[in-house]
Amino acid sequence: MAQLDAGPRLLIRRLRQIMAEPGSGQSRLDRVVREIARQMVAEVSSVYVRRQDGSLELYATEGLNPEAVHNTHMKRGEGLVGLIAEQAKTINLPEARSHPAFSYRPETGEEEYHSFLGVPVLRAGRVLGVLTVQNRTRRHYTSEEEEALQTTAMVLAELLASGEVAGVNDQRLGGSLVISGLVLSEGIALGHIVLHEPRVVVTQLVSDDPEGERARLDAAIGQLRATIDKMLSRGEISAKGDHREVLEAYRMFALDRGWAARMREAVARGLTAEAAVERVRNDTRAQMLRQRDAFWRERFRDIDDLSDRLLRILAGKTMTAAEEEIPEDTILVARTMGPAELLDYDRARLRALVIEEGGPASHVAIVARALGIAALGQARGVIEAVESGDAAILDAESGELHIRPSSDIIEAYADKVRFRARRQKAYEKLRAKPAVTRDGCRIALNINAGLKVDLAHLAESGADGIGLFRTELEFMVSATFPRRERQTEIYARVLEAAGDKPVTFRALDIGGDKMLPYFRHAPEQNPALGWRAIRMWLDRPGLFRAQIGALLRAASGRELRVMLPMIAEVAEFDRAREIVLRESRHLEQVGREPPSRILLGAMVEVPAILWQLEALCERADFLSVGSNDLMQFLFAADRGNDRVADRFDPLSPVMLRVLKEIVEVAARRETPLTLCGEMAGRPLEAMALIGLGYRSISMAPANVGPIKAMVRSLEAAPLARYLKALLDAGEADVRGALERYAEENGVALRVPFDSKKARQE
Ligand code: PEP
Ligand code: MG
Repeated sequence: MAQLDAGPRLLIRRLRQIMAEPGSGQSRLDRVVREIARQMVAEVSSVYVRRQDGSLELYATEGLNPEAVHNTHMKRGEGLVGLIAEQAKTINLPEARSHPAFSYRPETGEEEYHSFLGVPVLRAGRVLGVLTVQNRTRRHYTSEEEEALQTTAMVLAELLASGEVAGVNDQRLGGSLVISGLVLSEGIALGHIVLHEPRVVVTQLVSDDPEGERARLDAAIGQLRATIDKMLSRGEISAKGDHREVLEAYRMFALDRGWAARMREAVARGLTAEAAVERVRNDTRAQMLRQRDAFWRERFRDIDDLSDRLLRILAGKTMTAAEEEIPEDTILVARTMGPAELLDYDRARLRALVIEEGGPASHVAIVARALGIAALGQARGVIEAVESGDAAILDAESGELHIRPSSDIIEAYADKVRFRARRQKAYEKLRAKPAVTRDGCRIALNINAGLKVDLAHLAESGADGIGLFRTELEFMVSATFPRRERQTEIYARVLEAAGDKPVTFRALDIGGDKMLPYFRHAPEQNPALGWRAIRMWLDRPGLFRAQIGALLRAASGRELRVMLPMIAEVAEFDRAREIVLRESRHLEQVGREPPSRILLGAMVEVPAILWQLEALCERADFLSVGSNDLMQFLFAADRGNDRVADRFDPLSPVMLRVLKEIVEVAARRETPLTLCGEMAGRPLEAMALIGLGYRSISMAPANVGPIKAMVRSLEAAPLARYLKALLDAGEADVRGALERYAEENGVALRVPFDSKKARQE
């Protein structure tokens, strides 16, 4: 393939000169089309800009009637120009009129022109507009001319995105936009977008040194392949949830000769390595837009992501924004994210998280709640709709992300934030009040914690204690494996902060989607069912001993409560208890004061243990239901996979029967019982738990207020009778029935106080 010949090269140079010259954006755009027409020996050259509603407006022209500028609009998908924008593809025709999509616009005076070449103006994979040339003669433009116009469109994209052309900046990404998703963590945040994986905008397009550019490109591709192999071999991908396949697909594409060859060809034609990646990506993007099949659309997205990675390597940019300074009001946007990646960010600057994928029980959602930041999942299309730096508002109540909001939306939200603050105040008033139902049932409300930042929440929320301290979170934020001394320090601090409130530490629950970056772990087909938690430490007791040693030391002279995750057989519990007792004896032998009392509990989260509950109660000092995992395993539905995570309802009769069975066995055996999964933090679900007989639950700190309000408005005994009758009668829609019950009986599921009055306050 020939290099860009002198003409197009010269054209690009000229365009760049024009862009550097003084003048308004519009006059620059006018000069640009004139120059394109001149250099490409075309009678017409026009630029159409895509507006918010998808229509295209003629913004500049050389050759068509100047009166048509800003007056000619093509509806979304209308005419050849509309088709180019919709499908992001080049159209090259010797006779435009014979194309079925051709739409004649008399005001432009284009009837004299026959041949037509139009290309999309793309930037970072998004269509900003369309660039066309037309000639009187019926000619077929050569592939070099197509290539030259496509490259020219890249320069034009830069001008349009710069915001200098009046009216374009607001439109460049479609102005204000709302994207809906699923609330992962409640809250409202006003701030600015930061893309977790920063985008690189290519500005240097042509090069005089194709050899040098080829070498740069090859080196970058090599580095890309090596990183992906490393990620796969470290099993790091499981930290991203269920995205191992994505990486496998990545590897496939990264090794794809066709992809590399097309980029090399573009370099050989005179583009810089970056511009070559962008050019080929634009083509892929166009294919993606045309693709109707979801599977293939995903694969094209993988290539899109890979192109981003490659550009970051070429530009020497960091792979994630966590390595950079982020604004103080960051709304982080990611395609997928694991809990460890979120923890890499500076919490103080993080206001909200938006991810394209991910269900509410995924660990990243749990970490977002633990950090107290608003979070939205399943926000389809968000990556393509935003740029880093865009203003945004996340309403993680209604489940909407407002991108580049107008001033009245900002105003309305400022109001809403004030309203929430008042509501928070109302919850604060409840802080000192006990969580007692109207008929006198005391419900222990505990918080789930795991990070230092959580400790303050214990006092703020007025909770009874920490029902679940996820010890692995501190391991995940640490750069290396915390030694026993360091662990002792952490646990002692937690106990100290809790004062005389009880703290239940959960022994390390790693594996699954909670990988430690410094811990080698062979890749697994099904990490959630794999070598994790107790399975890991029974095989490597040293790990567990170090943690138990640290906990025993930290709790010297006071009560220590530890619970064991993922128990599938009572024998596992026995073996773990042996280790705990041995460590405790060892501590005494070395003359250290042991805890005043050691309570060892088991989590009920693997269905197999449901048929060993009696035996478990005999051994365990308490039980804690991990309803997130219990749901996942009971329904065989990956909690991190949004296609299936919400498919099954925790208020389904099946789940409720299982939860009831646990209450009954625990009551019979007089074994204290609690539940610490996410359902405990949702008012309707928590109400159902109380109806089933749960008297202790543990939740994200922000949920304590709303749950307490619900508890205080409820009568437990009639609810228990009602729920029993529902289950006995085989009611399928328990959720609906419970919602009606709450409504009819004045149970506060939402705002626990007179909101009108609060507004007037
Ligand atoms: C659970 O599984 O319900 C639980 C509380 O633990 P985690 O979410 O950390 O697995
Ligand atoms: Mg669990």
